[in-house]
Amino acid sequence: MIIVGGGIGGLGAAFSLTRQGLRVRLLESAPSFGEVGAGIQLAPNCTRILDDYGLLDEAKSLGVVPDAMVMRDAVDGGELTRLDLRDLEKRYGYPYLVIHRSDLHGLLLRACERAGVELVNDARVVAYENTAAGARATLASGGTHEAGLVIAADGLHSAARGLLVDDEPVSSAYVAYRGTVPAAQPRVQGADLGEVVVYVGPKCHFVHYGLRGGELLNQVAVFESPRALAGQEDWGTPDELDQAFARTCDFVQEGLPFMWRDKWWRMFDREPLMNWVHGRIALLGDSAHPPLQYIAQGAIMAIEDGWVLGEHVARSRAADGTVDWDAALCAYQAVRPEHCRRVLTTSRAWGELWHLDGLAREQRNALLRARDTYDYAFVDWLYGPTALTADQEPPMFTPVPLSSVDLGDAAGTPAAAGTAV
Ligand SMILES: Cc1cc2nc3c(=O)[nH]c(=O)nc-3n(C[C@H](O)[C@H](O)[C@H](O)COP(=O)(O)OP(=O)(O)OC[C@H]3O[C@@H](n4cnc5c(N)ncnc54)[C@H](O)[C@@H]3O)c2cc1C
Repeated sequence: MIIVGGGIGGLGAAFSLTRQGLRVRLLESAPSFGEVGAGIQLAPNCTRILDDYGLLDEAKSLGVVPDAMVMRDAVDGGELTRLDLRDLEKRYGYPYLVIHRSDLHGLLLRACERAGVELVNDARVVAYENTAAGARATLASGGTHEAGLVIAADGLHSAARGLLVDDEPVSSAYVAYRGTVPAAQPRVQGADLGEVVVYVGPKCHFVHYGLRGGELLNQVAVFESPRALAGQEDWGTPDELDQAFARTCDFVQEGLPFMWRDKWWRMFDREPLMNWVHGRIALLGDSAHPPLQYIAQGAIMAIEDGWVLGEHVARSRAADGTVDWDAALCAYQAVRPEHCRRVLTTSRAWGELWHLDGLAREQRNALLRARDTYDYAFVDWLYGPTALTADQEPPMFTPVPLSSVDLGDAAGTPAAAGTAV
């Protein structure tokens, strides 16, 4: 089979399918494999899969297993709520891990090499079509690759997605700056590298956590760009970064000079897509479900897609090794789009909650402060075992409207059970 795209999604799928005994060729447009960016958070629904792949110990050795995830108000710096990540690990059976993107990507790449995936660079796919025996991917160079199944893991700007829907990426008008700070810098002394911290503020937020066993502090600064809202082309520039965080507390503002100022990531998602399969061509990862990153599940969903597909391929394989591709794709299609729809829509809602101002900000803060640290109602639907069939998909939590928060007596109200977050 053929996989197009050697990002985290494509490599994860290539490993999953190869370990089920398939011969996989992966086509990547770039001249070499790699990932741009800094840290990535991996929740238990991903570390469970890495463990199944035999890769969790290596991932832990490359990353950091933090003790807590803390949410603070970006304006006054006060703590709003926290997750005890050691307790969370006991609940879900697998750790919450933070890791450098290039380390995760490298780990998957090495696993693919060991497993015997045929890795091809400089291979930009420009067209996909179904054939009598499967599907064909055509390269910009004119060459073609055919197989029983072609998986398009070609990211946000997927060429294959156009086979299923005529849509475009949706701009959120938000932009992300990233950066890492070496542990020796005084900046890092003020941060607890055992915590993943997110400061939520009006139209902005700021995240930090330790990487590489505490050698680095990873920082992410995200804000709404006034120039994007005004329809201007040159949006998200460093002057907008500084302006966006002008109201935030000292710790956040002091982090801004450490962001990489020569590159930034404009944040796009797409409307949820409920059909990912076109004959023997299937979408996977960001090509199917690019999210806003607020609940840190984009790469995780991509890794889950590959694991689910691998499990269904194994179940659709006859004793002679032939695979009933249509059955495997039908099972994949029956479970993944609905889960990812939930993640995409929750990510948007989560971002709105983070970026509130005025009365709504106060209501949010009251709700979060009253949340019990050990209430997992709002993550149970995400962090449990990845569903293989629709009936295994856990129920969603029920959000509590902020308007139900009585600021005169917020603590202890039933609404404050953390379910709005
Ligand atoms: C600021 C930020 C923070 C994030 N934080 C998290 C987090 O904490 N946790 C998390 O799970 N997710 C996070 N995400 C989301 C995550 O990074 C993505 O969802 C994930 O990397 C998508 O992987 P992918 O392999 O599907 O796509 P991509 O990474 O886009 O990979 C696509 C690959 O396909 C190749 N390609 C594209 N077109 C072609 C073609 N025509 N022919 C051949 N090859 C092609 C590309 O070169 C690339 O290698 C974050 C995203 C952002 C922007």
